[in-house]
Amino acid sequence: DTFLSRRVQAIKPSPTLAVTARAARLQAEGRDIVSLGAGEPDFDTPDYIKEAAIRAIREGFTKYTAVDGTPGLKQAIVEKFAHDNDLHFSPAQVLVSVGGKQSFFNLCQALLNPGDEVIVPAPYWVSYTDIVILAEATPRVVETDMDSGFKVRPAQLAAAITPRTKLLVLNSPSNPTGSAYTADELAALGEVLRAHPQVLIATDDMYEKILFTEAPFVNIANVCPDLLPRTVVMNGVSKAYAMTGWRIGYCAGPEPLIKAMTKVQSQSTSNPTSIAQKAAEAALRGDQSVLEPMVRAFRERHDYVVERLNRMPGVRCLESQGTFYAFPSFHRVIAERGLKNDLELAEELLEKAGVALVPGSAFGAEGYLRISFATSMENLQKALDRIEGFLGS
Ligand code: PLP
Repeated sequence: DTFLSRRVQAIKPSPTLAVTARAARLQAEGRDIVSLGAGEPDFDTPDYIKEAAIRAIREGFTKYTAVDGTPGLKQAIVEKFAHDNDLHFSPAQVLVSVGGKQSFFNLCQALLNPGDEVIVPAPYWVSYTDIVILAEATPRVVETDMDSGFKVRPAQLAAAITPRTKLLVLNSPSNPTGSAYTADELAALGEVLRAHPQVLIATDDMYEKILFTEAPFVNIANVCPDLLPRTVVMNGVSKAYAMTGWRIGYCAGPEPLIKAMTKVQSQSTSNPTSIAQKAAEAALRGDQSVLEPMVRAFRERHDYVVERLNRMPGVRCLESQGTFYAFPSFHRVIAERGLKNDLELAEELLEKAGVALVPGSAFGAEGYLRISFATSMENLQKALDRIEGFLGS
């Protein structure tokens, strides 16, 4: 009895954007809210990147580009994959999109039929499941917990694969947990996948550059090169270069699939913004030392946040390997306070303590809260003082 499509009724608005919007609304009403909801770096886009965009405008680079991205940006992406990841693609295997979000949207539209299943390990980035549903396929959520470091175990993966499984999504380092797979863990998952040639793999490497480990970044295609022909490598400039508003993501994979994804994009957005593409090209080609102070700051804040959380009664938090998120368990707090769930806890923390956090349920994991430390130490200290005060009350 509604005029809206079943497709749109089956999905929800992005909960992380909703928390941030709600915190901003309360702030506008004059409430003192510390928002730890944001999924974006608090740093400014580096100057050399901005300059490239300003130059693009001045030079009149303000028209349609090729749907799949400018040759210059695509070449920079090819070289980035070769240099950083030892992955060797041709430009025809690369697609530039309006953020990493559109890369995954295009992939699902190009790949999935009704009834197809997509394995999504939880806790997951909030958009995977809804984008799969928009493609009229079925997310098959595999739950992980703190004991496995929020990582899917090979036996779990094997048990989740059915004849209808078309895609597995891996995201490492992970939003929202910050956990990253080791090469050995990826090898073990690859071993399972070898027995199921119908399963494609999407490796979402969006947080590749925000990594705290000694070991260099690896994805499943690095560890299992034989799986590369059925892997789509997704990445973007949003998080690494503090460029969330510019909306440039990119991916590389099998040419026929990339062609099909380009067709979807050609009938939805056309090319990503010409000016932003020039900025992204500059980001990838420029002096990468701008990343270092940002990663160092994230790491210092991570250490501070995790240490303080683990001193709070009823709270448990794992060390992350990357990203700017921590994903502490509040299961005991919820039980001891007689709260219904993490949604109610987040609500109380917002109302009574003035701290905005995203409930774990949004990521398919009840009983946790996601804390973004993409904010100043001063804000983090204030927020943690308030959470501590709330827990003591
Ligand atoms: N993948 C993950 C894991 C993310 O956390 C995000 C953003 O939150 C994206 C992809 C999409 O990024 P973009 O802003 O480039 O669309």
